[in-house]
Amino acid sequence: MFDIGVNLTSSQFAKDREQVIIRARQAGVTGLLVTGSNASDSEHAAALTTIFPDYCWSTSGVHPHEASTWTDVVAEQIYSLTLRDKVVAVGESGLDFNRNFSTPSQQERAFTAQLAIAAERSLPVFLHCRDAHSRFISLLTPWLDKLPAAVVHCFTGTRHELDDCLNAGLMVGITGWVCDERRGLELRALLEYIPDDRLLLETDAPYLLPRDLHPKPASRRNEPCFLPHIVRQVATWRDQDASLLGERVDENARRVFRLA
Ligand SMILES: [Zn+2]
Repeated sequence: MFDIGVNLTSSQFAKDREQVIIRARQAGVTGLLVTGSNASDSEHAAALTTIFPDYCWSTSGVHPHEASTWTDVVAEQIYSLTLRDKVVAVGESGLDFNRNFSTPSQQERAFTAQLAIAAERSLPVFLHCRDAHSRFISLLTPWLDKLPAAVVHCFTGTRHELDDCLNAGLMVGITGWVCDERRGLELRALLEYIPDDRLLLETDAPYLLPRDLHPKPASRRNEPCFLPHIVRQVATWRDQDASLLGERVDENARRVFRLA
């Protein structure tokens, strides 16, 4: 099973990154996609892929929260990182109108510019959308035939939004959000509508520690070694065999991100 969303550059992993990788391997996680969320962070993510070869790949991009940092210089940095072998997608990019840490117009500008970089480089995109569904779909749609694949990571939308994403051909990333017995129930009910070949799983570590994980780590920090828990729970709710589901999401991740 492959974890397509790990914020391994986070300072929460500064002291024990190597141990985190060892625990993930021991837990049966086959590889990680390390998320880049701004220019320097994407550089850091790319550097981590060389420290953990054959296990880590990374994305290069600017998260919607950080869209206000978007400049021509940043665009150039994001672009040049995509020239590296282990940088396999553009992102995390998209729209988040929930908190608006950057203004909607800054977010839309950075999002569109990153779609253009991905199209030029023929790379898949790793996308974030929160409370911005219709704008997200309308900005993304004109680019889809120029992109090899698009992943909407940490999907938490409605049935209607899921249908739009599937009809647009997107891959759907599910995190441990779905394990939350309060806010994850709506998402849990949607799991059965995601076809096997469109599903990806992710921890989004160090965030989103699954609420139904027992025992919970004292730090409350999420780690890629908890991906098997998410796989088991999602398999149960989809009425599937967990080890087959694990193999399936690994296969999907390797196909979508074209990993060697
Ligand atoms: Zn995100």
